[in-house]
Amino acid sequence: MSAIASNLQAVRQRIDAACRAAGRNPGSVQLLAVSKTWPHSAVQLALEAGQTAFGENYVQESLAKIRQLSNCGIEWHFIGPLQSNKTRQVAENFAWVHGIDRLKIAERLAAQRPENLPPLQVCVEVNVSGEQSKSGCNPEEVVTLCQAISALPRLQLRGLMAIPAPEVDFSAQRLPFRRLKEIFEQLCTGGLALDTLSMGMSHDLEAAITEGATIVRVGTAIFGARDQP
Ligand SMILES: *Cc1c(COP(=O)(O)O)cnc(C)c1O
Repeated sequence: MSAIASNLQAVRQRIDAACRAAGRNPGSVQLLAVSKTWPHSAVQLALEAGQTAFGENYVQESLAKIRQLSNCGIEWHFIGPLQSNKTRQVAENFAWVHGIDRLKIAERLAAQRPENLPPLQVCVEVNVSGEQSKSGCNPEEVVTLCQAISALPRLQLRGLMAIPAPEVDFSAQRLPFRRLKEIFEQLCTGGLALDTLSMGMSHDLEAAITEGATIVRVGTAIFGARDQP
């Protein structure tokens, strides 16, 4: 078995254990394998181990991988910061976008999503860590942004995403995830049909699952430590 295959098995076991501890069905949490910086051969190994959803952060890098692995049944998720001059490539090549934090980006994606593809599945990124984070919209702006996005064509708003500041302590890890879940519930009560909480990474997926994550985005625990540029 490849190292990637055994890492994947270990991550799936962590997800199952966290679900059981939280009284949740393990099938209610989707694993997104974050393959940024890794070559298509690494994605191929994960694919052979049964992993079909992959997350990428960098447009240029991901387009090469998507081309090399076309017709493999992979669902590609764009999870990185998105500049307006890169929206067309994302709208044409990805199934999901997780990090939307302003209307202008959503409007461009809606206008550029090809008619022959299913609607682009999107999540709004919320800054639940205050000053410590530069990405994500402010919690006070979420309702207005989500309402505007849900009215756009060619996009389907699925839920919220967050990248909290790293914490070691389990209860400290849970707080921002709980905050995101509360905002999510307010939006649902307000009439938006949302089903996705994209939260939790290699170091804090148990805390995220405890607070209701439906997608965890895991890179290091599957592929190993990345070389930081
Ligand atoms: C890199 C990245 C991840 C994966 O982080 P790991 O710590 O390697 O699991 C998840 N989400 C986003 C948005 C990322 O940029």
